[in-house]
Amino acid sequence: MTQHSTKDFQAADAQHYLHPFTDFKDLASKGSRIITKAEGAYIYTNDGQKLLDGMSGLWCCNLGYTQPAINKAVADQMNELPYYNSFFQCSHPAAIELSKELASVSPAHMNNVFYTNSGSEGNDTVLRLVRRYWDLKKQPNKRVIISRENAYHGSTVAAASLGGMSYVHNQFGKLPNIEHVAQPYWFKEGGELSREEFGVQAAKALEDKILELGVENVAAFIAEPIQGAGGVIIPPETYWPEVQKILNKYDILFVSDEVIFGFGRTGKWFGCDYYGTKPDLINFAKAVTNGFQPLGGVMIGDKVADVLKSDGGEFAHGFTYSGHPAACAAALATIKIMKDENIVDKVANDLGPYFGKRMAELSDHPMVGEVRTLGMVGAIELVKNKETRERYDSDGTAGATCRDASIANDLVMRATGDNMIIAPPLTLTHEQIDELVTKAKAALDQAY
Ligand code: PLP
Repeated sequence: MTQHSTKDFQAADAQHYLHPFTDFKDLASKGSRIITKAEGAYIYTNDGQKLLDGMSGLWCCNLGYTQPAINKAVADQMNELPYYNSFFQCSHPAAIELSKELASVSPAHMNNVFYTNSGSEGNDTVLRLVRRYWDLKKQPNKRVIISRENAYHGSTVAAASLGGMSYVHNQFGKLPNIEHVAQPYWFKEGGELSREEFGVQAAKALEDKILELGVENVAAFIAEPIQGAGGVIIPPETYWPEVQKILNKYDILFVSDEVIFGFGRTGKWFGCDYYGTKPDLINFAKAVTNGFQPLGGVMIGDKVADVLKSDGGEFAHGFTYSGHPAACAAALATIKIMKDENIVDKVANDLGPYFGKRMAELSDHPMVGEVRTLGMVGAIELVKNKETRERYDSDGTAGATCRDASIANDLVMRATGDNMIIAPPLTLTHEQIDELVTKAKAALDQAY
C-alpha cells in the first residue's frame, strides 16, 4: 500500500470515505486515526504509535492479528477455488468441512448451518427462518419477535429493528412485529433490589410481554447472552434460568445472538454453553474467522431443522457470498487453532480468572462504580458518585474523555455511554493483561 503522511491520508479520508456509525462532520474536523499495521495484540498508527488492542478489532480478532496459518489457508483456498456459490445444487469442500466443524463445537442439538457474510445478515436470516418454521408448523399467527431494550443485533433494517437502541431506529424506523422488553442491567436499573431479585424481575418482564401479546402470536425471543455493544451488561445469575423456563413453558423459539460471545470469549465455545440455555438458533459471525474474512451464519437446532427439511418447498433466501470458500477456509483454520491451543479452556481456567482479578483492582478508583468481567470481556462503569451510583450526564462525555485518555495511554478501550468496554484477544499473556490494567488505570487517572 502506498505510504502517505497522516495529514494526506486524513484529508483523502474525510473527502471520500463515509465511515459507519460516524458523525461525518465531526470526523472531518478531528481526522481519523490511520491504522497501518497490526501484530499480535497490538495495532500501529501511521505515525508509529503502538496500541494494545483491548477490543480485538471490533470484538472479532480473538486470536490477535498474527495468525499465519489462517492467512495460508485463505491463500491456498484462493489458489484452489477462489469462488463458487452454493446455489443451484452446488457445494464445495470448504463449506462442507466447516459445517461439520461448526456442528462439532456448537451445542449437541445444533447440526445445521446457514451461511451469511455478517451478523446483521444473520439476523435477517433468523427472521425468515423463524417465520418459515411457524408457517410450516401451521401456526402462521406466530409473527412477533421479542427482543430487549439496548440490544444490538446489527445494522440492516431488519437487524436494526431487532436491536433495542432507539437512536439506530431513528435512521429508518422499525419493522412491524418486533417488541422490546427490559434488559437485566442491574447497576443502572436495579434500584433497591438485589441482583438476584432484579434478574428474576427482568425475566418476568418477558413473561408479561408474552401474555400481553398472546402466546399464540409470539414466535421467538432473541437476545445476546450478555449485551455487548450495549455496555457488556452481564446479567444476574438468576436471569437466564428464569428466561429459559418461561420460553419452555410457552414454546417460544429462542435465538441466541452470539456474534460477540461465540468462539470462546466467555470460556465456553458459546455464551449459551456458559449460561446453560438451549437456543433453537444461534447467530454467529466475527471471531469465527478471527475477523480475517467476512463470514457469519445461523446454527439451526434439530427441532427447527427437522421442520425446515420436511416437505416445505424452497427456502427463498440467500446471498451470493453465502459460504464463500476463502471465508470458510479462514474459519476452518481459526477453529483448528482454537482447538490445538486449547483457547477455550485457557480462557475458562487461566486467562479469564486472571483478567477478572486484575480488572477488579480498578473498582477502587473514584470514577468507577462497578467493574464487570466474565471470561475475557469486561466493562468499567463510570459514575459521578460511587456511593449513590449517581451517573454522569447522559451525553457520553465522561466515556468519551476516558476513551481519549485511553488512546493517549496506548490502549484501545471502547466507550459505550459511560461504560468503558474491554474485549481483548484471548491470546494475551499475563504480562499483557498487567499492561492492559496499568494502561486502563492511567486512562482513568487522566480522565478523572
Ligand atoms: N449481533 C450482535 C450481537 C452484534 O454485536 C453485532 C455487531 O457488533 C451484530 C449482530 C451485527 O454484526 P455485523 O456488524 O457483522 O453485521
